[in-house]
Amino acid sequence: MSLPANLYSTWRAQRPSAGPLREDGPPPERLLQAVWQHQRVLRDQLTLADGRSVRVLHPGFLNREAGPDFREAIVQFGSETPLRGDVEVDLATSGWRTHRHDVNPNFRAVVLHVVWDGPSAHGLPTLALKSRLDAPLGELSEWFGGEDATRSGGLAGRCCGPLNELPRAELEAILQQAALVRLQLKATQLAARARQCGWEQSLWEALFAALGYKHNVWPMRRLAELAGTSSDQLSVALWQARLCGWSGLLPVELPRGRGADADYLRQLWDAWWRERERFSEVILPRTAWRMSGLRPANQPLRRLALAAHWLVNGDLPTRLERWFTRDVAHAQLAASLLELLQPSDDEFWSWHWTLKSPRLAKPQPLLGEARLTDLAVNVVLPWLWARAAAGRNEPLRATAEARYLAWPVGEDNATLRLARERLFAGSPPRGLFHHATAQQGLLQIVRDFCEHSNALCEQCRFPELVRCAQPNAGRSAGLRPAAAPGSP
Ligand code: SF4
Repeated sequence: MSLPANLYSTWRAQRPSAGPLREDGPPPERLLQAVWQHQRVLRDQLTLADGRSVRVLHPGFLNREAGPDFREAIVQFGSETPLRGDVEVDLATSGWRTHRHDVNPNFRAVVLHVVWDGPSAHGLPTLALKSRLDAPLGELSEWFGGEDATRSGGLAGRCCGPLNELPRAELEAILQQAALVRLQLKATQLAARARQCGWEQSLWEALFAALGYKHNVWPMRRLAELAGTSSDQLSVALWQARLCGWSGLLPVELPRGRGADADYLRQLWDAWWRERERFSEVILPRTAWRMSGLRPANQPLRRLALAAHWLVNGDLPTRLERWFTRDVAHAQLAASLLELLQPSDDEFWSWHWTLKSPRLAKPQPLLGEARLTDLAVNVVLPWLWARAAAGRNEPLRATAEARYLAWPVGEDNATLRLARERLFAGSPPRGLFHHATAQQGLLQIVRDFCEHSNALCEQCRFPELVRCAQPNAGRSAGLRPAAAPGSP
């Protein structure tokens, strides 16, 4: 059966479209970003508002988080030394101030402001694209499509080709080995801290830090240090009050009237008032915390409420060791650890995302699956591996590795997405990322190679190494999927 000759064109015409574009008006900002990302510009005719020429050595990586639109671009103005920094794309130069980029520290590394039209208005090198496109706007809009035009393409690193040619088994082996290096490095870090403060305290600090997610690691770690200095036997409520008090995040104003939030906050303050004086010197400043852009589930006070449940009996390290030494089917690993770390119920936090949010229709767990995986692969298993290694207990070390390699896939994040763009042009082999190991391996490759190179992959040896792993290069026998570096 032959398909109609224009079937694909028909499909294409029916896809979500950007709609008709007026050639005389500004494009949507997303299209302007796509123009920059794919460099659909007259590259040898680019000039800044101040007349200097601009050469774009790399447009940078699209940033999907808070901050400038592109990170780590490399641009050269006139004959000056090339600059590495961020690029912000706005329709008008006025966007710099109206979007308050001028006072936002996230934008300090911006080296180039790309706009649709207009002169420089703020002293930053400014490049207007209106008269520098390589095609009419309507054509560009059609080319990029109405979908997210900035989604992929053009970011592939030099290793992308060699990785693509690698047989599946070798590719999995590389990722596993990289993941095991990561496990060992985290274990080494925990062991180093344990030499200072003891194994249990090193675990507490790492658990708290992991609860801080990426933005609040350090204040959370500090709270674990403080908790480690206390030998008081406290209830969950008193631990919550103390941790919240130490954090400096307790709202000063009590809500008016009654309600679960007002009652709970009063309860925290009633307890905290009594000890505030005693701990006045260790209370963290609010500025130690980054609150913007956090999902409700990642709000520090909610995380501290969970930590209070763990602290109350003080036996979490022992229970983790018990979990580690009993037989658990790999398919049950996550569920069995969740059972151990999940508090049964919290009178307030099971029913509210934040201090101010309304009561939920049904209770929400304090620990979600994504954070559980994060805790398992970054803290619990590395800590257990480190203890086994310190005790020269090879069977237990092998158990830690086996559980690590079998751990189910974790939550995706911006670093992983960017890494997949660079190493696999956004399309890794199907099923490759079905385990946390592959994610961890990828993160380690980023740490070991991408972070030591630049956006152009200059001086990165990874592509060459990958080529050596090709079966016909005669080196693949060196790859053993389940062997940790340094393992016997
Ligand atoms: S820096 Fe190296 S590992 Fe990273 S994308 Fe480029 S070639 Fe690949």
